[in-house]
Amino acid sequence: MKENRIYNFNPGPAALPLPVLEEIQESFLNFAGSGMSITEVSHRSKGFDDVINDAVARTKRLLNLGDSHHVLFLQGGASTQFCMIPMNLLPEGQSADYVNTGTWSTKAIKEIQIQGKNVNVVASSEDKNFSYIPENIAFNSDAAYVHITSNNTIKGTQWAEFPDTGDVPIMADMSSDIMSRPFDASRFGMIYAGAQKNIGPSGVCMVIIRDDMLARVPENIPTMLKYTTHVNKNSMFNTPPCFAIYTVQLVLKWLEETVGGLDKMAEINDKKADLIYGFLDASDFYRATAAEGSRSKMNVTFRLPDEDLEKQFIQAAMENGLGGLKGHRSVGGCRASVYNAVGLDAVEALVDFMKTFEKKNG
Ligand SMILES: *Cc1c(COP(=O)(O)O)cnc(C)c1O
Repeated sequence: MKENRIYNFNPGPAALPLPVLEEIQESFLNFAGSGMSITEVSHRSKGFDDVINDAVARTKRLLNLGDSHHVLFLQGGASTQFCMIPMNLLPEGQSADYVNTGTWSTKAIKEIQIQGKNVNVVASSEDKNFSYIPENIAFNSDAAYVHITSNNTIKGTQWAEFPDTGDVPIMADMSSDIMSRPFDASRFGMIYAGAQKNIGPSGVCMVIIRDDMLARVPENIPTMLKYTTHVNKNSMFNTPPCFAIYTVQLVLKWLEETVGGLDKMAEINDKKADLIYGFLDASDFYRATAAEGSRSKMNVTFRLPDEDLEKQFIQAAMENGLGGLKGHRSVGGCRASVYNAVGLDAVEALVDFMKTFEKKNG
């Protein structure tokens, strides 16, 4: 029942827009007049072809991309991209620049090292527990590419602006903030995002790759791990995750037609962030953990005076219909993930609850 739904602040899998869930429900037994569910149709059917082509077209429209970029829907999550990027796009004998801003960047770096390839960690915020985004980074002009994590889901930091890397292509893991704001996507060599944070369910990873990157793909890597394989087959070299891609398509449609595009989405996300960070900054009870200027508009990390109160807070929030507020197990504390599908009303309800909890316990 719609009435029983909670305010969902889960980090991922995460909230999806209610109109998308309702459309899935409505179409579930009879997708596009096929007499079958989307989970039962052939991925070689015209019905599914329309879904994936529409998802690609909407992605390009939302990000102002033309024929110079390919949009893929791959399996293996964002985590498989950590190894596919160096495998495909880092030629032997060259090196890549990585910025280490937290858990996910660290994992990406490890996957190059496993392959015995050269990585330069040109900046890191590990000295302050990854609570900020490094500035004034000296990138290597001969690097094969620069890799960043645009939003650090666990540490609650986000690049406010992307660095200028000159002629060196920039690659970004945008798993937790893709489609949350407009940006110049055309200058990225590659962008990838596990769908389950901001654009869909788990089971599919969106990969956007610039055409000139494909010339780097070596012959001697496994077929399934080659970007060219998936570009040449429109993500249907093998059976794709049809249901997950269908859901992504509906989320993109919602973004374009209901929200009104990324400028509008960013306005709403800014309002949400202003509300919650404004409240945290004014409070002596709660404390935001990310440095000002580096704060994520998607994952708001904060602490209470002690761990016992944090436990009580998370428990009491759940009892009041506010779920998913526990911080990642590696950092503790609290985290409100306020992705695109989490409305201003949810953030208002959260702030109201936080005020009440403070009054009782502060
Ligand atoms: C969740 C997350 C990942 C891991 O995604 P999977 O799809 O589970 O592999 C990678 N990077 C970031 C920034 C994430 O938030």
